[in-house]
Amino acid sequence: MNIHEYQAKNILKSYGVRIQEGIVVDTPEKAVMAAKKLNLETGTEWYVVKAQIHAGGRGKGGGVKLAKNLEQVESYSKSILGMQLITPQTPPEGKKVHKVLIAEDVYYPGPSEPKEYYLSIVLDRAKSMNLIMASTEGGMDIEEVASSHPEKIIQEWVDPGVGLQHFQARKIAFLLGLEGHAFKEMVNFIMHLYEAYIKIDASQFEINPVLKTSDDKILAVDAKVNLDDNALFRHPDLQELRDITEEDPLEVEAARSGLNYVKLDGNVGCMVNGAGLAMATMDIIKLSGGHPANFLDVGGGANARTVEAGFRIILKDPNVKAILINVFGGIVRCDRVANGVVEAYKNIGNIEIPIIVRLQGTNAEEGAKIINESGLRVKSAVLLKDAAQIVREVMDEIA
Ligand code: GDP
Ligand code: MN
Repeated sequence: MNIHEYQAKNILKSYGVRIQEGIVVDTPEKAVMAAKKLNLETGTEWYVVKAQIHAGGRGKGGGVKLAKNLEQVESYSKSILGMQLITPQTPPEGKKVHKVLIAEDVYYPGPSEPKEYYLSIVLDRAKSMNLIMASTEGGMDIEEVASSHPEKIIQEWVDPGVGLQHFQARKIAFLLGLEGHAFKEMVNFIMHLYEAYIKIDASQFEINPVLKTSDDKILAVDAKVNLDDNALFRHPDLQELRDITEEDPLEVEAARSGLNYVKLDGNVGCMVNGAGLAMATMDIIKLSGGHPANFLDVGGGANARTVEAGFRIILKDPNVKAILINVFGGIVRCDRVANGVVEAYKNIGNIEIPIIVRLQGTNAEEGAKIINESGLRVKSAVLLKDAAQIVREVMDEIA
């Protein structure tokens, strides 16, 4: 699960990580009040107006603006709130901005120049360890740094059983070229950041930029936090941070029905039981000249209700020109799935696109018989290669 920058920063702060202070608002009037409050609390006279959407690259898209007085706080908030913000990480049509974070300006002048760094923590599945990545090239596209200057990315693996050791945090701070007070601040920053990562069961942290201020404080200017969905049940407080307006509506609906659905941009919808079979089915669609419109795993215990819910979700996608149902009858019997398909088809009514059903495994023959005798516009196949052939024919028909 993704959360907003302001939510992520609140969490980090509660674990002792220093952050760029800010107040989230949803109107230009509240933005001005927030700026006045920040002025009293931090002394800042300049402010940053930051669009809150679940995507990075906001600065490049015009979603981060430096305001040098209260009038600018108001006018930037007015223009950013409600805008359709397009960044390299949003869908092409962008994302609507519902909230802005009014933050203190932390790039103020002082004894040294402010300097941006990069820090992230991810799970390295291959090594079964957490990986901290750091770089002096903060604020930039880290993918770009990784490909053109891989030597500029510091990597430190942490054994989760042992936890992050102080010497490791010192090593990172040293390799970042820090010294004196800033060095100590960075070590603290990394130690607290790692603690937060573990305690909230995060799957990814990306702080870009981490800023060394002109007076040698280290703080998080941005924060991308990804929570592990499988651990969310342990964190009712974090579950409440979910913002479903940021998520794909079909994916939200699917999750409610207990379906594992990911929307893609192809034209053949698919409904499958089991994630591995779903992946293989998407390959088959591609090899047959179609493009998968989604990943949909209805789970091992598919029944009439889940089949119908799956159907309804796939049919809501206007790009879908055909549906391939590929079910392996193991725990679930094919005749039951076939009945489920027929029932769902009748309940929904007016399905105008071709449906291809491939049932294999327990009671496959009975299942095919039910489909073939239903009188519906459903084509059935027992072998996967036959299903692929039908997909190919359907693709030729609609081409
Ligand atoms: P992103 O573009 O979505 O990654 O959003 P960030 O939170 O990283 O902000 C983008 C950029 O805005 C940063 O890289 C900074 O260069 C700039 N920025 C953020 N906060 C401040 C600030 O307090 N003062 C100034 N002058 N610039 C800031
Ligand atoms: Mn950033």
